[in-house]
Amino acid sequence: MSNATQLIHSIPVDPQTGAIAVPIYQTSTFVQDAPGVNKGYDYARTNNPTRATLEQIVAQLEKGHTGIAFGSGLAAIDAVLKLLKSGDEIVAVDDIYGGAFRLFTQVYEKFGIKVHYTDTTRAENVFNAITPNTKLIWLETPTNPTLKISDIAAIAQIAKANRCLLCVDNTFASPALQQPLSLGADLVVHSATKYLGGHSDLIAGIVVAREKELGDKIKFIQNASGAILAPFDSWLVIRGIETLHLRVKQHSANALEVARFLEQHPLVDKVFYPGLASHPNHEIAKKQAKAFGGVVSFTLKNDTEEAAIQFVTHTRLFKLAESLGGVKSLLCHPANMTHKSIPAEKRRASGVADSLIRLSVGLEEAEDLIADLEQAFTANLISSPVNAAALQN
Ligand SMILES: *Cc1c(COP(=O)(O)O)cnc(C)c1O
Repeated sequence: MSNATQLIHSIPVDPQTGAIAVPIYQTSTFVQDAPGVNKGYDYARTNNPTRATLEQIVAQLEKGHTGIAFGSGLAAIDAVLKLLKSGDEIVAVDDIYGGAFRLFTQVYEKFGIKVHYTDTTRAENVFNAITPNTKLIWLETPTNPTLKISDIAAIAQIAKANRCLLCVDNTFASPALQQPLSLGADLVVHSATKYLGGHSDLIAGIVVAREKELGDKIKFIQNASGAILAPFDSWLVIRGIETLHLRVKQHSANALEVARFLEQHPLVDKVFYPGLASHPNHEIAKKQAKAFGGVVSFTLKNDTEEAAIQFVTHTRLFKLAESLGGVKSLLCHPANMTHKSIPAEKRRASGVADSLIRLSVGLEEAEDLIADLEQAFTANLISSPVNAAALQN
């Protein structure tokens, strides 16, 4: 059976009523027959049937044992970090999501957890950064926003040999394209706000553990700390996931067309998209993922914040907003938006140039999206003599 068919039928029919949609259990507590004698649920922070259904669906999608749904992607990341103790160290991808960087440096460093950032596209860099105190390796692949690809299977072997956990933030690929647990990772996290939810209408996060033991630890942390996903939002994510395969396939096809358009555009300097043969990690991307996702980034020949701001304020279909993975196309200027909390020097060093623009390519017709970008380039050209000069050079 194909993955899409399997997914659609992993969403259970309600055994009590036959409802084809998952019921929303909007309740805080569950009546017990005698103290401790219940129907599997006692209090909705610990467990809720709607959330549990979502957790089972995502665990199955990621080929893991346990899913745990959180109130945001960052709450999911936070729960994984709580596996560590003071003195432990993390080796993390250098081009890390800005919010994760802020959490690592401004919250966890003061509890004595040290993070080494390295370019994980070369597996040997991970190996070299490991110390006897390293307990966790943190990958994002593709990364945000420069779409770097790391070899999950190779880094999983390094993790295993050094008794570290490997956690992969799989937000950008989604389990429809890439399943890190099958490649040897121990944990996967998602911002379900993005492709899993898929409609820009909620904030949610998920952790999936490959093994029961680790899943139990995260479930304990969640119950102890309380950052659960509400029943209605759990239901919305389930509803989004029903069309995950279809959406991600179209996001990927549209993104590839947009990337090819950008690659030949005279005002564009670099295009970052793992589906392009020119991408430095194209081969490994092809090996570990079914397609290349809906995010495309690019820089301008005129590499200034001003030129980028000009551009992002002149598109019509691409809306200027943080986030990605929804039906409507979005664009953002990471230096001033998602990556503002990273110091400029560090940001530039990890490849996020001043003019870098990130597109979340939506589900509109690709030709309409390309026409929108073309008219924004034209507007940019007319309004900026610097761009006109760049074109002539
Ligand atoms: C958005 C995002 C997060 C954070 O998720 P929230 O749901 O916004 O808390 C984490 N990782 C990546 C790669 C993201 O894009």
